[in-house]
Amino acid sequence: MKLADLHLHTVYSDGSATPDEIVRAAKRNGLDAIAVTDHDTLDGLAETFAAGQAQGIEIIAGVEITSRVGTQEVHILGYFFHDDWRDPVFHKVLEHAKHLREQRALEFVARFHQLGIPLTLAEIKACSSCGTLGRMHVALALQRRGVVNSVEEAFERFLRRGKPGFVDRPRMTAAEAIGQIRRAGGVAALAHPGLNNVDKQIPEMMAQGMVGLEVWHSRHTPAQTEHYLAMTRALGLLPTGGTDAHDANPGLVRIPYEHVETLKSCLT
Ligand SMILES: [Zn+2]
Ligand SMILES: [Zn+2]
Repeated sequence: MKLADLHLHTVYSDGSATPDEIVRAAKRNGLDAIAVTDHDTLDGLAETFAAGQAQGIEIIAGVEITSRVGTQEVHILGYFFHDDWRDPVFHKVLEHAKHLREQRALEFVARFHQLGIPLTLAEIKACSSCGTLGRMHVALALQRRGVVNSVEEAFERFLRRGKPGFVDRPRMTAAEAIGQIRRAGGVAALAHPGLNNVDKQIPEMMAQGMVGLEVWHSRHTPAQTEHYLAMTRALGLLPTGGTDAHDANPGLVRIPYEHVETLKSCLT
């Protein structure tokens, strides 16, 4: 049986593995198809496709867009089975999301100055191996500065919601994320519903054009997996799944390739 892992991150967002390392590991781990779904960027895809071709693994273009339903953060996965992901307008939308993130980094700098810690934007950027700037990179910069001993301590003392260094992140709505994915010719699925509390909003997101639900995820409990599988059947959603690996270990969660076929058929 052919197997796929549809949720993986690379150094192009907050993962530690390069596209080449991910693809090689996927081959080693017996996968036939993978989707790289970096946060708010498609920048790693060209490299992933090249590696896929070299290793003989099918690559599905993907992205994971950080968005919100009300004040609740949700992650929307987008999958593209043709060349649509190259759509320049879609790239622009994601560039804007990245720009918002950079603005947030400047807010972090201002906040830490107020706290008497003269952190600079350059220090945060130096902790990011890609264009992404998030709380993790602020935490690493604080550690390098010797303000904290570990990333955990940085989150505990400063960066968690409610702590003095926390800066909220402007996000697009789930409706916008779903709409942009569809407009660019992709299919949208809700990532790891078990980690967010948005079950009640799922029908609303379906009405906005979302067709898939990530049933299988490395952080879902067996009960959650069962719950969401039942939900796909009840609501007519397509089940998807992936490891959500942030290192070079894809395939911890693997799904039958027939689910990929079903997603593809959604586009015709
Ligand atoms: Zn996510
Ligand atoms: Zn993810």
